[in-house]
Amino acid sequence: MKDTYRHKGLRKALAEEVSAKGIDDESVLKAVMKVPRHFFMDTSFVQYAYKDQAFPIGCGQTISQPYTVAFQTQLLDVKRHNKVLEVGTGSGYQTAILIEMGAKVYTIERQRDLYLKAQSFLPSIGYAANFFYGDGYEGLKSYGPYDRILVTAGANHIPEKLKTQLKTGGIMVVPVGDSQSQIMTRIVRKSEDEFIKTEHGHFVFVPLLKGKSM
Ligand code: SAH
Repeated sequence: MKDTYRHKGLRKALAEEVSAKGIDDESVLKAVMKVPRHFFMDTSFVQYAYKDQAFPIGCGQTISQPYTVAFQTQLLDVKRHNKVLEVGTGSGYQTAILIEMGAKVYTIERQRDLYLKAQSFLPSIGYAANFFYGDGYEGLKSYGPYDRILVTAGANHIPEKLKTQLKTGGIMVVPVGDSQSQIMTRIVRKSEDEFIKTEHGHFVFVPLLKGKSM
């Protein structure tokens, strides 16, 4: 697959579209302009790669809408060299956005096929991350604590184990709600046992599920 000037043009237009919808973090917009989203799409939907929409990626999962990716990433306030835990690798598109922003990414996926695909595909296009197959509800304690934790599936409660894997001063972004709709929730760890929670509007994600799936 090729990345052409036409694709670059479409990405610039996409960045302008998410900017018009309220994303103003320049580092996020730059990352949207750089990551070739058409590389992450299922072949049947590749011509829609630069539409601001979610699309199926197999295993009943979706590549998130670019606006949602940008919104979560902006809320996460990622700095260069941050150690970031991403729960829900999926297509790996969000992973690539985080890497473009200079983060060191640990990403975990519960669907074996998606994990296998992402862990071979991302490095092949220059995005090095640490890929894990497992249940993100548990986090990845042995590699923590993390500066940032990003959950890209809808949780029905705030995952307590993930909170404990945040550094002091660390930030977690997680959509919390039922299967119909979730509230984008941001948690800042102020100290060992003090967490501050803020809420940032409604979104719709595929569910965060317990356990691993073959
Ligand atoms: N960031 C992805 C979004 C994929 S959708 C992208 O941009 O493509 C959310 C993903 O979370 C799905 O792939 C789903 O399989 C995964 N997921 C759901 N519950 C999980 C869990 N407990 N642990 C790890 N991954 C999970």
